[in-house]
Amino acid sequence: MKEGDESDQEAFLRNRSLDEYVKTVMTHIRGCQKLSLELQGWHHYSDYVGVRNTIQEVNTRITNLITNIFQHQDIKLKLTHTKLLDQFDMVREGNDALLERINSDIDEASGLKKDTDFEPSVKVVQAPSSANTPSKNVVLMASRNVQKPQLFFKEKVDNSKKEPFIPMITEKPNSLKPLSILICLDGTQEYYSHPYEYELNHWMPDPAQLEKVKPRRPRPLGQTSLTMVTEVQQLEALVKELKTCSEIAVDLEHHAFRSYQGLTCLIQVSTRTKDYLIDPLALRGQLTILNEVFTNPKITKVLHGADFDILWLQRDCGVYVVNMFDTHQAAIVLEYPHRSLAALLSKFCDIQANKVYQRADWRIRPLPEDFMEYARQDSHYLLYVYDLMRNELIERGNQLNNLITAVYSRSVDICLKRYEKPFIGPESHMELYRRSRRTFDTKQMYALRELYLWRDNVAREQDESPDYVLPKHMLLQIAEVLPKEMQGVLACCNPIPPLVKTELLTIHTIIRAAREQKLLPVLEQSVEQQIPQVQLQMEELNTGLVISKHDLSTVDENPTDLPTLLNPRETLLGDLFSQPRVDVRVKLKSRMFGCVMSHLKHKDSLHREITKEFMSPYERYTAYQDLKPHLDGERKKREEPVDEAHIARVKEHFLCLSNNTPQEKSEAEEANVVIKQKRPRPSKEKKKSEMNTPIVLGDEIKEMKAMNSGQKRAVDNEGEAVNGENDESPSKKLKTNKADGDTKEGGKEKKDYRKVEDEEEKQEDDGREKGEEEEEEEGAYMESGEEEEEKSAAGSAPFDYDKADYSIFEGKPGKKFKSKQKYQQKFGGKGQRGRGFKSNMKSFSFGRGNTSRGGSRR
Ligand code: AMP
Ligand code: MN
Ligand code: ZN
Repeated sequence: MKEGDESDQEAFLRNRSLDEYVKTVMTHIRGCQKLSLELQGWHHYSDYVGVRNTIQEVNTRITNLITNIFQHQDIKLKLTHTKLLDQFDMVREGNDALLERINSDIDEASGLKKDTDFEPSVKVVQAPSSANTPSKNVVLMASRNVQKPQLFFKEKVDNSKKEPFIPMITEKPNSLKPLSILICLDGTQEYYSHPYEYELNHWMPDPAQLEKVKPRRPRPLGQTSLTMVTEVQQLEALVKELKTCSEIAVDLEHHAFRSYQGLTCLIQVSTRTKDYLIDPLALRGQLTILNEVFTNPKITKVLHGADFDILWLQRDCGVYVVNMFDTHQAAIVLEYPHRSLAALLSKFCDIQANKVYQRADWRIRPLPEDFMEYARQDSHYLLYVYDLMRNELIERGNQLNNLITAVYSRSVDICLKRYEKPFIGPESHMELYRRSRRTFDTKQMYALRELYLWRDNVAREQDESPDYVLPKHMLLQIAEVLPKEMQGVLACCNPIPPLVKTELLTIHTIIRAAREQKLLPVLEQSVEQQIPQVQLQMEELNTGLVISKHDLSTVDENPTDLPTLLNPRETLLGDLFSQPRVDVRVKLKSRMFGCVMSHLKHKDSLHREITKEFMSPYERYTAYQDLKPHLDGERKKREEPVDEAHIARVKEHFLCLSNNTPQEKSEAEEANVVIKQKRPRPSKEKKKSEMNTPIVLGDEIKEMKAMNSGQKRAVDNEGEAVNGENDESPSKKLKTNKADGDTKEGGKEKKDYRKVEDEEEKQEDDGREKGEEEEEEEGAYMESGEEEEEKSAAGSAPFDYDKADYSIFEGKPGKKFKSKQKYQQKFGGKGQRGRGFKSNMKSFSFGRGNTSRGGSRR
């Protein structure tokens, strides 16, 4: 202690008492406390402009820094204009996401993927049995430890949205015109022209190709040499050898789950004596040399169902095909009932092809022995099948060789196809929405759209299939539930896709934004939105063709021969409004579609407006009830002759009855109703007398029989007679009508069903038609995915990833429409986009109508 200090204290104490001293000190302390309370926190300091500005500046800098750091990792945070506490939460969540990613990346880099529960492994499962194929084992999907081959590609796959697919070739062997790849415009969509378009358009089969040959059966697989081609030298040797052949068989294997655009994983080539398996993953970027053979117009390339092989070859190998014979097209031209490769092998080679590996993970290296055996069998017999089909085509064709030429021309059309990247627009999610059969409000709709776009973006960036990023049923589930918490998002997914884990925050941000949307029922404006790809054309608007997608009344493809209540033109409404005396009250504007109606200024009569109006099934039902008595009469007027078998049955019945109780009047009357329909109309007096005199049924029937044999159709005015008998009991009338209607409708239904079945059958045994082409029309999958969605949306059964990827290949409802559209696209011309609007529109309405009929808006 210093002396001075002591003297100060002493001086202080000397002058005052302790009490006084304490008091003074306490006052000071209190003052300090008060002052410090006032001064506490930056609230006080921020009152000073200088301090405030500095704080704000620093704050902005920190927030921006954090946002930038996260943005760099593709995590979007909205830290500005957020409360401090929320900001803190967000940053924490962001950190979690980053750490999750780091974990996942480390695992991937070290070769063990943590999410083994998510990633499917090679497994043998029972494929569902269909009518004509017993259930069989198939190998499904990925082995969990396959590394993504893309990681080793020298040139990264370009998944960008903006840039159209650029043909890979830099040289053009076998050219008639020098290589020039032009950039073209299709609407607003840019694309690069087909490098061999000119050559294909000027290609004609060599006359020798149109002559019959002696079929050459290949040696069994065991006695045929098999060469793996994994190196450039081997490839060059192969090309050299193939150049000596006049025909070769080619097939491809493909994998789609773990890449955005899909990957060609194997190219099988068979000559008359040898089989080759080319590894396009190992030889990526070096396969264009194959063009020397594949575009050689003198060498026939035999493929089966090449629609996709052609695109895959372009995309992954830069290979084009000139002079192709597609055995699937041949099977179509020859009108074979079964057109799959397996069916052809069974028919021509007596080989029961083992399709177990069709959906296997073809990226696996080294390729397992059984995979190789499977793969080579797809091309091994193809040249022999070609020989046989070629002969049959020539035999069954005319002098101009119409059949075989047709096969070549169809094959050229396939070769002319251009690969294009999947296109995703702002309305792409609508297809998924439609097929989901759910009803969303604006919030859910917002979430669906944003999640859909997010999923596509992530898939492009990570080079994964959108279904790997987030399977459709989970996407729908999240959009529907709009979980408040991040945990809720995870709860919608079982198992949780890895990218959902790492991108959880983004998903959650989308959901939060969705929850902030204004709540509107979505239906009103979305009727038109729901027809996204189909622009509404003025013409259609004026004619009122697009009033309602459910209204099939004006669509040509609507089968007019099916007498259903839902078919206004032919049955109910047709009658309804052609009868001016009938008083029916139909809502002029259905609430649901009112807004669409309102801008269609129909000056026409009420009649026209009404017939085009949407009527809910209930409205139809009530209208029908009102009109039933009248309609029954009308229907009878138009009634066609009753089906012979039915008459016979009724005859028999009444013969029986007349034997037992010949006098019973009511039954006699009933018989009369039926019988009368078949008879020429008697004069009024005669009829009256008939009514009064007892009927001897046996005679009546004999008489009728005689007349029936000569005359099939009842006289028009018979309906009048029936009307006169309206006092008969309703049940009886119903009986007559029903039996009648049943036979008629039943017959037609059957016919229709057969048609459907036929189409489905074709599809079923036709790998190509149910192949991955649907990838291009993404939504189309949903038809088959739907069931799964509904099953697994409940979250109980874990979702089967194997199925998620390939659900499209399973025969499920809705295929009929799909196949039809596909067929039209396939054979309706060769343009790929910008096809006639009208036909699209029609198929669209048709398909929708079908689904909505059986739909879930019950
Ligand atoms: P393929 O020509 O029958 O060997 O089929 C070639 C590729 O198309 C296969 O590797 C699969 O990627 C795909 N594919 C064809 N049919 C099916 C199917 N039914 N299910 C799943 N993928 C298929
Ligand atoms: Mn194939
Ligand atoms: Zn194959």
